[in-house]
Amino acid sequence: MQKSVAIVGAGVSGLTCGVVFAERGFRTSILAEQIGTQTTSGAAAALWFPYDAEPAEKVIPWALATYQVLVDLAKDSESGVSMIELRQYCRTGKIQIPDWTQPYVISSEVGGPLTISVFESGFAVRVPLMDTTIYLDYLANRFQNAGGAIQGKVRLEKLDDVDLKFDLVINCAGVGARELARDVDLEPHRGQVAIVPKIDKLNSAIVCDDAPLMYAIPRKNDCVFGGTNEVSDNLAPDPATTNAIVTECSRVLEIEAPRVLRERVGLRPFRKSGVRLEREKLSDGRTVIHNYGHGGSGFTLSWGCAGDVFELIG
Ligand SMILES: Cc1cc2nc3c(=O)[nH]c(=O)nc-3n(C[C@H](O)[C@H](O)[C@H](O)COP(=O)(O)OP(=O)(O)OC[C@H]3O[C@@H](n4cnc5c(N)ncnc54)[C@H](O)[C@@H]3O)c2cc1C
Repeated sequence: MQKSVAIVGAGVSGLTCGVVFAERGFRTSILAEQIGTQTTSGAAAALWFPYDAEPAEKVIPWALATYQVLVDLAKDSESGVSMIELRQYCRTGKIQIPDWTQPYVISSEVGGPLTISVFESGFAVRVPLMDTTIYLDYLANRFQNAGGAIQGKVRLEKLDDVDLKFDLVINCAGVGARELARDVDLEPHRGQVAIVPKIDKLNSAIVCDDAPLMYAIPRKNDCVFGGTNEVSDNLAPDPATTNAIVTECSRVLEIEAPRVLRERVGLRPFRKSGVRLEREKLSDGRTVIHNYGHGGSGFTLSWGCAGDVFELIG
């Protein structure tokens, strides 16, 4: 008989694992305090591009595997995934173009349409963009259509507390794994964004990782302005930070500051010793597979990691 699986967490990691298990015929339930758009995943930008996650030798293969799945999902207009030109810039000096981006590079030079006066260099790549307002619901629906069940408002103190009717536990608790798996290696990398109305002239994603971190990401119905990255647990939006984000994005894009529709804060689950994707035994002998610590790349790594979780069930 197929195993009965409990996945803890309903952010992008838990929902993607849910789809993988349910569509392969496993009786699968997702148990989580918060679901989809309420989670850190709901605050993400969420572009495909590895950022703030370790170690590179695992992150890049997971990212490339995920890219392939997302390219296919972009063909489904209901998924919330689309392909977009990402223009990655540097304020001073010559930007390094990572080798692994080569198949997706559109332009390796700033010039012509890539010119933005405040930046010195940049390159453009074609990448998937997940509109979190659509994509997380898409994953949840796909999971449920494959027979999966989602139980919200469930807060677990420890993984052993998962009901014994489940044979296998998958831990996708994001930064919550600090308490749930007693993992002191997890560090909350706080990110704040401002959601503004659609900007007519913006049809590519603009990103600059140099301080101050800056990005403007056009989505179907709005635009995400960011951002910040600091070690902090504070989930309350800071109005001064929102103001600074909107000011810098408007300066770069050479537009009047737009009104702010919403502010969002999320805690990127950064793990100093790298993404944790491994098996362990619970005290009652059941297997748990950990899948957390994806930092600023949870969407970028989601399908690659979910595939590896599935491989680990043995
Ligand atoms: C501002 C910002 C921008 C970002 N941009 C990008 C981007 O462009 N591209 C990208 O790939 N990534 C991006 N990220 C990172 C990405 O959002 C995270 O890596 C991803 O959301 C992690 O997903 P997760 O499912 O592992 O965790 P989460 O989304 O945090 O979900 C954790 C789940 O576990 C549940 N949970 C936790 N503890 C417990 C408990 N004790 N009991 C029960 N349930 C529990 C929670 O309720 C939730 O359902 C960004 C993040 C931020 C904050």
